[in-house]
Amino acid sequence: MLEIRDMVCGYGGVTALRGISLEVKAGQLVALIGANGAGKSTTLRAISGLVAPRSGSMLFEGKDIAGARPPRVVASGIAHCPEGRRVFPHMTVEENLDMGAYLRTSAAEIAADRDRIYAEFPRLADRKRQAAGTLSGGEQQMLAIGRALMSRPRLIMFDEPSLGLAPNIVERTFAIIRGIRDAGTTVLLVEQNAFAALDMCDHAYLLEAGRIVLSGPGAEMIENEHVRKAYLGG
Ligand code: ATP
Repeated sequence: MLEIRDMVCGYGGVTALRGISLEVKAGQLVALIGANGAGKSTTLRAISGLVAPRSGSMLFEGKDIAGARPPRVVASGIAHCPEGRRVFPHMTVEENLDMGAYLRTSAAEIAADRDRIYAEFPRLADRKRQAAGTLSGGEQQMLAIGRALMSRPRLIMFDEPSLGLAPNIVERTFAIIRGIRDAGTTVLLVEQNAFAALDMCDHAYLLEAGRIVLSGPGAEMIENEHVRKAYLGG
Protein backbone atom coordinates (compact mmCIF):
# COMPACT_ATOMS: atom_id res chain seq x y z
CA MET A 1 0.00 0.00 0.00
CA LEU A 2 2.79 2.39 1.00
CA GLU A 3 6.30 1.90 -0.30
CA ILE A 4 9.20 4.14 0.65
CA ARG A 5 12.60 3.68 -0.98
CA ASP A 6 15.88 5.32 0.04
CA MET A 7 14.22 8.40 1.49
CA VAL A 8 16.55 11.13 2.74
CA CYS A 9 15.07 13.96 4.77
CA GLY A 10 16.31 16.76 6.96
CA TYR A 11 15.92 20.20 8.42
CA GLY A 12 18.47 22.81 7.32
CA GLY A 13 21.86 21.36 8.20
CA VAL A 14 20.40 18.36 10.08
CA THR A 15 19.92 15.09 8.22
CA ALA A 16 17.16 13.25 10.07
CA LEU A 17 16.61 10.31 7.69
CA ARG A 18 19.63 8.83 5.93
CA GLY A 19 17.97 6.73 3.25
CA ILE A 20 15.15 4.67 4.71
CA SER A 21 13.10 2.03 2.91
CA LEU A 22 9.94 0.56 4.31
CA GLU A 23 6.68 -0.99 3.24
CA VAL A 24 3.22 -0.92 4.78
CA LYS A 25 0.93 -3.65 3.48
CA ALA A 26 -2.82 -3.07 3.25
CA GLY A 27 -4.69 -4.19 6.35
CA GLN A 28 -1.60 -4.36 8.55
CA LEU A 29 -0.63 -2.51 11.69
CA VAL A 30 3.00 -1.54 11.17
CA ALA A 31 5.08 -0.10 14.01
CA LEU A 32 8.07 2.20 13.81
CA ILE A 33 10.13 2.09 16.99
CA GLY A 34 13.36 3.74 18.09
CA ALA A 35 14.90 6.14 20.58
CA ASN A 36 14.23 9.87 20.85
CA GLY A 37 15.57 11.66 17.79
CA ALA A 38 15.89 8.49 15.67
CA GLY A 39 13.66 10.04 12.99
CA LYS A 40 10.27 8.44 13.64
CA SER A 41 8.24 11.67 13.61
CA THR A 42 10.18 12.91 10.60
CA THR A 43 9.16 9.77 8.70
CA LEU A 44 5.48 10.47 9.37
CA ARG A 45 5.90 14.18 8.57
CA ALA A 46 7.54 13.30 5.26
CA ILE A 47 4.66 10.98 4.33
CA SER A 48 2.17 13.73 5.25
CA GLY A 49 4.00 16.31 3.17
CA LEU A 50 4.98 18.44 6.17
CA VAL A 51 8.68 18.05 5.31
CA ALA A 52 9.88 17.50 1.76
CA PRO A 53 12.15 14.51 1.18
CA ARG A 54 15.53 15.43 -0.32
CA SER A 55 15.65 12.23 -2.31
CA GLY A 56 14.05 8.82 -2.57
CA SER A 57 10.63 7.65 -3.66
CA MET A 58 7.29 7.24 -1.92
CA LEU A 59 4.37 5.39 -3.51
CA PHE A 60 0.91 5.17 -1.98
CA GLU A 61 -1.39 2.72 -3.75
CA GLY A 62 0.94 3.00 -6.72
CA LYS A 63 0.81 6.81 -6.88
CA ASP A 64 3.88 8.94 -6.30
CA ILE A 65 3.31 11.14 -3.24
CA ALA A 66 6.93 12.17 -2.56
CA GLY A 67 6.94 15.94 -2.04
CA ALA A 68 3.14 16.22 -2.33
CA ARG A 69 1.57 18.94 -0.18
CA PRO A 70 -0.54 17.84 2.83
CA PRO A 71 -3.99 18.42 1.23
CA ARG A 72 -3.10 16.11 -1.65
CA VAL A 73 -1.80 13.49 0.78
CA VAL A 74 -5.04 13.65 2.81
CA ALA A 75 -7.10 13.52 -0.39
CA SER A 76 -5.18 10.43 -1.48
CA GLY A 77 -6.35 8.61 1.68
CA ILE A 78 -3.75 9.19 4.41
CA ALA A 79 -4.51 10.74 7.82
CA HIS A 80 -1.99 11.83 10.47
CA CYS A 81 -2.75 11.82 14.18
CA PRO A 82 0.16 13.98 15.36
CA GLU A 83 2.34 13.83 18.46
CA GLY A 84 0.84 15.88 21.27
CA ARG A 85 -2.61 15.54 19.68
CA ARG A 86 -2.67 19.15 18.43
CA VAL A 87 -6.38 19.70 18.73
CA PHE A 88 -7.50 23.27 17.98
CA PRO A 89 -7.98 24.43 21.59
CA HIS A 90 -10.33 27.36 20.96
CA MET A 91 -12.60 25.45 18.61
CA THR A 92 -15.36 23.18 19.87
CA VAL A 93 -15.14 19.41 19.78
CA GLU A 94 -17.52 19.38 16.84
CA GLU A 95 -15.54 22.01 14.92
CA ASN A 96 -12.38 19.97 15.49
CA LEU A 97 -14.05 16.90 14.03
CA ASP A 98 -15.26 18.89 11.05
CA MET A 99 -11.70 20.11 10.40
CA GLY A 100 -10.79 16.47 9.74
CA ALA A 101 -13.37 16.47 6.95
CA TYR A 102 -12.27 19.76 5.37
CA LEU A 103 -11.70 18.21 1.96
CA ARG A 104 -15.04 16.40 1.86
CA THR A 105 -18.14 17.92 0.34
CA SER A 106 -21.18 15.85 1.33
CA ALA A 107 -22.65 17.42 4.50
CA ALA A 108 -24.88 14.38 5.03
CA GLU A 109 -21.95 11.95 4.91
CA ILE A 110 -19.89 14.16 7.21
CA ALA A 111 -22.77 14.29 9.71
CA ALA A 112 -23.17 10.51 9.57
CA ASP A 113 -19.45 9.97 10.23
CA ARG A 114 -19.55 12.48 13.08
CA ASP A 115 -22.42 10.53 14.63
CA ARG A 116 -20.46 7.30 14.31
CA ILE A 117 -17.55 8.90 16.15
CA TYR A 118 -19.87 10.19 18.88
CA ALA A 119 -21.30 6.68 19.24
CA GLU A 120 -17.80 5.27 19.66
CA PHE A 121 -16.64 8.07 21.99
CA PRO A 122 -19.67 9.13 24.05
CA ARG A 123 -17.56 11.55 26.10
CA LEU A 124 -17.02 13.58 22.94
CA ALA A 125 -20.76 13.61 22.27
CA ASP A 126 -21.39 14.98 25.77
CA ARG A 127 -18.84 17.74 25.13
CA LYS A 128 -19.49 18.56 21.48
CA ARG A 129 -20.03 22.28 22.13
CA GLN A 130 -17.12 22.58 24.58
CA ALA A 131 -13.78 24.13 23.58
CA ALA A 132 -11.33 21.31 22.84
CA GLY A 133 -8.65 22.93 25.01
CA THR A 134 -10.76 22.26 28.11
CA LEU A 135 -10.81 18.47 27.54
CA SER A 136 -8.63 16.07 29.54
CA GLY A 137 -5.58 14.57 27.85
CA GLY A 138 -7.41 11.31 27.22
CA GLU A 139 -10.42 13.09 25.75
CA GLN A 140 -8.14 15.14 23.50
CA GLN A 141 -6.55 11.91 22.29
CA MET A 142 -9.99 10.51 21.40
CA LEU A 143 -10.77 13.78 19.61
CA ALA A 144 -7.50 13.68 17.66
CA ILE A 145 -8.27 10.09 16.60
CA GLY A 146 -11.84 11.03 15.69
CA ARG A 147 -10.63 14.03 13.69
CA ALA A 148 -8.19 11.84 11.75
CA LEU A 149 -10.96 9.31 11.01
CA MET A 150 -13.19 12.10 9.65
CA SER A 151 -11.13 12.16 6.43
CA ARG A 152 -12.09 8.48 5.87
CA PRO A 153 -8.46 7.42 5.53
CA ARG A 154 -7.30 4.08 4.17
CA LEU A 155 -3.99 4.59 6.01
CA ILE A 156 -3.91 6.28 9.41
CA MET A 157 -0.64 7.26 11.09
CA PHE A 158 -0.28 7.72 14.85
CA ASP A 159 2.66 9.60 16.38
CA GLU A 160 3.28 8.63 20.02
CA PRO A 161 -0.38 8.18 20.93
CA SER A 162 0.45 7.05 24.48
CA LEU A 163 2.57 10.09 25.35
CA GLY A 164 1.54 11.78 28.61
CA LEU A 165 -1.59 9.70 29.16
CA ALA A 166 -2.60 7.81 32.31
CA PRO A 167 -2.03 4.02 32.08
CA ASN A 168 -5.72 3.13 31.74
CA ILE A 169 -6.13 5.67 28.93
CA VAL A 170 -3.02 4.29 27.22
CA GLU A 171 -4.63 0.83 27.26
CA ARG A 172 -7.85 2.25 25.84
CA THR A 173 -5.96 4.13 23.12
CA PHE A 174 -4.08 1.00 22.06
CA ALA A 175 -7.35 -0.96 22.01
CA ILE A 176 -8.87 1.69 19.74
CA ILE A 177 -5.87 1.54 17.39
CA ARG A 178 -6.10 -2.26 17.18
CA GLY A 179 -9.84 -1.87 16.54
CA ILE A 180 -9.16 0.53 13.65
CA ARG A 181 -6.83 -2.06 12.07
CA ASP A 182 -9.36 -4.87 12.73
CA ALA A 183 -12.05 -2.80 11.00
CA GLY A 184 -9.87 -2.77 7.88
CA THR A 185 -7.94 0.52 8.01
CA THR A 186 -4.18 0.19 7.63
CA VAL A 187 -2.16 1.67 10.51
CA LEU A 188 1.38 3.06 10.77
CA LEU A 189 2.22 3.55 14.43
CA VAL A 190 5.15 5.45 15.95
CA GLU A 191 5.49 4.55 19.60
CA GLN A 192 8.07 5.02 22.39
CA ASN A 193 6.59 2.09 24.27
CA ALA A 194 8.43 -0.53 22.21
CA PHE A 195 6.92 -3.51 23.98
CA ALA A 196 3.33 -2.39 23.44
CA ALA A 197 4.05 -1.52 19.82
CA LEU A 198 5.77 -4.83 19.02
CA ASP A 199 3.09 -6.75 20.89
CA MET A 200 0.23 -5.33 18.82
CA CYS A 201 1.80 -4.87 15.39
CA ASP A 202 1.94 -7.20 12.41
CA HIS A 203 5.32 -5.91 11.28
CA ALA A 204 7.85 -3.50 12.77
CA TYR A 205 10.83 -1.39 11.78
CA LEU A 206 13.55 -0.21 14.14
CA LEU A 207 15.05 3.22 13.39
CA GLU A 208 18.41 4.24 14.80
CA ALA A 209 19.98 7.60 13.94
CA GLY A 210 18.01 7.99 10.72
CA ARG A 211 18.52 4.44 9.44
CA ILE A 212 16.38 1.31 9.58
CA VAL A 213 18.57 -1.23 11.30
CA LEU A 214 16.10 -4.08 11.79
CA SER A 215 12.65 -5.16 10.65
CA GLY A 216 10.39 -8.15 10.99
CA PRO A 217 7.14 -9.43 12.45
CA GLY A 218 6.45 -7.98 15.91
CA ALA A 219 6.69 -11.40 17.55
CA GLU A 220 10.19 -11.91 16.09
CA MET A 221 11.38 -8.43 16.99
CA ILE A 222 10.36 -8.96 20.64
CA GLU A 223 12.71 -11.97 20.75
CA ASN A 224 15.63 -10.15 19.12
CA GLU A 225 18.57 -9.74 21.49
CA HIS A 226 19.50 -6.20 20.43
CA VAL A 227 15.87 -5.07 20.72
CA ARG A 228 15.55 -6.72 24.14
CA LYS A 229 18.72 -5.11 25.49
CA ALA A 230 18.27 -1.63 24.03
CA TYR A 231 14.51 -1.14 24.01
CA LEU A 232 12.81 -3.65 26.29
CA GLY A 233 14.95 -3.28 29.40
CA GLY A 234 16.75 -6.59 28.83
P1 ATP B 1 11.05 11.90 19.26
O1 ATP B 1 10.46 10.65 19.77
O2 ATP B 1 11.93 12.60 20.25
O3 ATP B 1 10.08 12.81 18.55
P2 ATP B 1 11.87 10.97 16.67
O4 ATP B 1 12.43 9.61 16.46
O5 ATP B 1 10.45 11.17 16.29
O6 ATP B 1 12.09 11.40 18.16
P3 ATP B 1 12.45 13.18 14.98
O7 ATP B 1 11.55 14.12 15.69
O8 ATP B 1 12.03 12.65 13.68
O9 ATP B 1 12.81 11.97 15.91
O10 ATP B 1 13.86 13.89 14.84
C1 ATP B 1 14.93 13.36 14.04
C2 ATP B 1 16.09 14.35 14.04
O11 ATP B 1 15.69 15.57 13.38
C3 ATP B 1 16.55 14.77 15.43
O12 ATP B 1 17.95 14.88 15.38
C4 ATP B 1 15.91 16.13 15.62
O13 ATP B 1 16.68 16.93 16.49
C5 ATP B 1 15.87 16.69 14.23
N1 ATP B 1 14.71 17.58 14.04
C6 ATP B 1 13.41 17.27 14.19
N2 ATP B 1 12.61 18.31 13.92
C7 ATP B 1 13.43 19.34 13.58
C8 ATP B 1 13.24 20.70 13.18
N3 ATP B 1 12.01 21.21 13.05
N4 ATP B 1 14.34 21.45 12.94
C9 ATP B 1 15.59 20.93 13.04
N5 ATP B 1 15.85 19.66 13.41
C10 ATP B 1 14.80 18.88 13.67
